Amino acid sequence: LASADAATGRTVVDVRGVRIGGPELVLVGGPCGVESRDQLFTVARYVAEAGVKLLRAGAFKPRTSPYAFQGLGLEGLRLLEEVRAEFGLGIVTEATEVETFDDVERSADMIQIGARNMQNFALLRRAGRAGKPVLLKRGPSATLEEWLYAAEYVLGEGNRQVVLCERGIRTWSDHARNTLDVSVVPAAKGLTHLPVMVDPSHATGRRDLVIPCALAGVAAGADGLLVETHCHPEKALSDGPQALLPSDFVRLVELAQGVHRAL
Ligand code: PEP
Ligand code: MN
Repeated sequence: LASADAATGRTVVDVRGVRIGGPELVLVGGPCGVESRDQLFTVARYVAEAGVKLLRAGAFKPRTSPYAFQGLGLEGLRLLEEVRAEFGLGIVTEATEVETFDDVERSADMIQIGARNMQNFALLRRAGRAGKPVLLKRGPSATLEEWLYAAEYVLGEGNRQVVLCERGIRTWSDHARNTLDVSVVPAAKGLTHLPVMVDPSHATGRRDLVIPCALAGVAAGADGLLVETHCHPEKALSDGPQALLPSDFVRLVELAQGVHRAL
């Protein structure tokens, strides 16, 4: 189902009127997690002012440590609904488990399946029965083939609105959190009709590497970028070191659109 050969054309995924996989480069920006109304609204305001139409933020956070901030849960989803009503932004947020999937599906405009859950087959099947588009992150050690089979689980249940997202893989390089696999972008686009996005934030874990890697992803043909940004990264409850400052986020939007236009 994911194969380019089997398709009549490339899939374009519509998220609240934003078309991913068409001629336009699509940016999705926002904090790692929903932390408070004040934080979410502050970030949403500058994201929207930068011309970005989709906001990312997790209400349910898959954290490496069980002692780390786990997200605001249902309260986070309510804040995301409020921020959509206020700014007209489409909401991209993660579903971490089948138990809370219904709640996430109701509140989200696009449901993210995180890297750690790429082979959670029950969750993938549930996403395949969702009436909302799915953003499927690549597992940190998944091959391209394994990633496409994961997409196949979603597609097989009937949901054809799937976007792939490269977010870095685990290698022996220890200067960054993960290694952005730039070449997987054109490789994936050769094998599948699905749109492919790049997340330079989790791929690097370092603010200073986010913009260069984002631009590399666009140059490689990504259909969009998923980027973390925070109004006060030093106070962020998760992923502060990789969050772009507001001014750098605005600069990235312009640079990325410039690279995309040059292709
Ligand atoms: C995220 O987008 O906040 C996230 C947890 O990403 P990943 O699943 O790629 O680690
Ligand atoms: Mn994050």
